[in-house]
Amino acid sequence: MGKEVIKINISKEDDHVFHRNLNLEYPIIDRAEGVYLYESSGKKFIDGCSGAVAANLGHGVTQITDAMNQQAKKAAFVHSLRFETEVLYKLSKEIIDLAPKNFSKVFYTCSGSEANESAIKLVHQYHKDRGNEFKRLIVGRWQSYHGNTLGTLSIGGDLKRRTSFSALLYEHPHINSPITDNEDMSLTNYIDELESLIKNYGAENIGAIICEPIVGSQQGAMVPPYEYFKRIKDICKKNDLLLIIDEVMTGFGRTGKNFAIEYFDVIPDIITFGKGVTGGYAPLGGIIVHNDIVKAILENSNGIFKHGFTYSGHPVLVATGLAAINYYKSNDILYNCNIQSEYLLKGLNQIYDKYKMIKSINGKGLLIGLEFVPNRDHDKDFKASEKVSERLNQISMENGLVLYPGSGAKKGKLGQHIIIAPPLTVNNTEIDEILEILDKSLLKLQKEIN
Ligand code: PLP
Repeated sequence: MGKEVIKINISKEDDHVFHRNLNLEYPIIDRAEGVYLYESSGKKFIDGCSGAVAANLGHGVTQITDAMNQQAKKAAFVHSLRFETEVLYKLSKEIIDLAPKNFSKVFYTCSGSEANESAIKLVHQYHKDRGNEFKRLIVGRWQSYHGNTLGTLSIGGDLKRRTSFSALLYEHPHINSPITDNEDMSLTNYIDELESLIKNYGAENIGAIICEPIVGSQQGAMVPPYEYFKRIKDICKKNDLLLIIDEVMTGFGRTGKNFAIEYFDVIPDIITFGKGVTGGYAPLGGIIVHNDIVKAILENSNGIFKHGFTYSGHPVLVATGLAAINYYKSNDILYNCNIQSEYLLKGLNQIYDKYKMIKSINGKGLLIGLEFVPNRDHDKDFKASEKVSERLNQISMENGLVLYPGSGAKKGKLGQHIIIAPPLTVNNTEIDEILEILDKSLLKLQKEIN
C-alpha cells in the first residue's frame, strides 16, 4: 500500500520472547490494515479468524486509534477505586443499552479470563452475604473454555490446558454441553446430567452454572438446541443458582446479535465479555450484572463488591471500547455480519460438497466452525494425535490464511475443528479469498491424509 516495509531479521537464538512454542519461528507482523496482516518480509495474510476472534473491526480504524490517543493525552490513568471518568460513564451506558433488559451495572477487567474470575467471585459473595456460604461450586461444562487463570481453568473443561496444572485446580463439577447431531444423547440427557449432578453435590453447595452460549474454541461453534438454555435457567431458578453466560468470544455482534444468548430468549444473571468490546484494539473485558444481583449487593454487602484490579476501568481502555461501540453502531456492523455470514455459508456449503472430511458446518453470524472426520459417510473420528485441525491451520498459514484451530471435546464427536471468524467488517471479495485459500489448503490436507 505504498508504505515502507521494515525488514527485521530475527534469528531464533536472538529472540527473547517466551512464545507458546519455543521451537517455532513466528512470522513478524509489521503492519495490519482491514482484514490483512503484513509480514516484515512483505508476505500478506488474510485474517480469517480476527486473531483470536477479537479483531472484530479489522485493523487501522482511525476513529478508534484517535480516541485512544486523545484519552491518553487527556488522562491516561485514573484509579476507578476513587474516580469515574466520562468515558467510563459513557461506555457503561452503551453496554447496558446493548445488554438484555434489567442489567444495570458493568465491572471492568483487562481480559476475558479476569472477567470470568470476577464472575466467580461475585457469585460467591452474592450467596455468602445472603447467608449461603456453602454455595461455592460453579458447574462448568467439559466443552467450554473460560480462560487460562487457575479459577477459570477449573471451571472450564479444556483438558489440554488443564492437564499440566490439574494439581492446582479447584474441584468444580462439570457436565457435557449438547451436541445437536449426537444421536446418543438427547437434550433431556444433558439436562438430566445437570439435575443429577445437583442432587449429588446438593444445591446448597452450588452457586452457579457457567456456559458459553455458542461454544467457540472447544466445540467449533456448535449451536445448542433452542430449548437448552430455557431448561438450564429453570433449573437455576429452582435451585437458587446464578446463570453466568460467557460472551467473551460471542459478544458484541460476533454471532449476528449483540449477545449470542439473545438467540435463546433467556435472561442470564451475569454476562462476561472481552475480545470484541474493543475489537482487539485494547485489552478490555468485564462483567455485566443483572439488577437483582446489584440490589442484593446493596442490601447484603453494604453495596461493596470486594474485588478489583489496578486497571479496572482504565480510561484509555474504556475510551477504546467506547470508540469501538460507536463504530459498530455507526457502520451497522451487525447488518454486515449477517449478510456476510450468509455469503460465507453459501461458499462453505460448496466446499462441503467437495470434501467428505467435513462432517458439519456450525455456528451463527461470523463465528463458523467446520468439524472434521476421515469420511462423513463412515462413523469414525480422527485420532487426536493426527492433529488434523492444527495441520490445516499450518497449511493455510503457508497459503496466507489465518484460521483458528481447535480440538478436544471430552464426550461426543467434536474432536477436530477449525473456526472461521473474519472481522465483522469483511466484504464479499475478501470472503472469496478466504474460501479460495481454504479450498486449496483442504485439497493439500486431503492428499496428505489419503
Ligand atoms: N472465555 C471464552 C469463551 C474465550 O473464548 C476466551 C478466550 O479465548 C476466554 C474466556 C479467555 O479470554 P482471555 O484470553 O481474554 O483471557
